[in-house]
Amino acid sequence: MSYNNAFKCPLCHTRHSFRHCRSFLQATPSAKDAIVRKYQGCVNCLGLGHRVITCPWNEGCRVCNLAHHTWLHPLDVNREVWLRMTAEVMMHLPGLDETPRKVRVLIDPLYDESSLELGSPSNFVMYPSPATVVLTSTNNNVRTYTAKLNVELESELLSPRHAVDLQCVKKVYPKKAIADPHFETPGKYNVVLGKSASNGIFLGLPIIEPGMPYAQNTIFGWTFFGDVARKK
Ligand SMILES: [Zn+2]
Ligand SMILES: [Zn+2]
Ligand SMILES: [Zn+2]
Repeated sequence: MSYNNAFKCPLCHTRHSFRHCRSFLQATPSAKDAIVRKYQGCVNCLGLGHRVITCPWNEGCRVCNLAHHTWLHPLDVNREVWLRMTAEVMMHLPGLDETPRKVRVLIDPLYDESSLELGSPSNFVMYPSPATVVLTSTNNNVRTYTAKLNVELESELLSPRHAVDLQCVKKVYPKKAIADPHFETPGKYNVVLGKSASNGIFLGLPIIEPGMPYAQNTIFGWTFFGDVARKK
């Protein structure tokens, strides 16, 4: 492995570490652990090129003190949910289906493919795959985005099964600035924007604040992700 490659992120082929990787940050703790092990990185500092046994970084997990990074500490599934980035948008397929319908989008650069779930077999045969779709935000900052999506039938794209408590978010971010006004409620994803399709929609870097999920601005508005408390 050459010097340059040693510091290239294997997820997005950009020169940054997992600690500074937007794709990595969005993975659940167990998925992060699997990614680090897959690329033979260090579970303690998330660096590449050495293993935990030779890690120069002394700090362990801030939750349990074991030799893994705090980001890899397992979720407490009885209390926490891993919230994923979603947006509610109006979607239409130019030339095929001009009447916009409201859909929920999952934004996740860890998916290689982008896909559109069409629900019923009669629709399924109508559309070519990949299909060109136009997505328009439903909040006040109206922006449209065109993507090419694979057409899939009932791919079981499910959001968290538990509602989460996010009053903290609603205090800080005004409702009209939030990409998915129902982001804390369980529901189905109709569209997945994976690696290539999601690149064009991020605005700036994620904001990390104590007591809040990570906040990421997108052309559709603010989205939130990370470990959050389940609703009591
Ligand atoms: Zn990366
Ligand atoms: Zn290390
Ligand atoms: Zn831990």
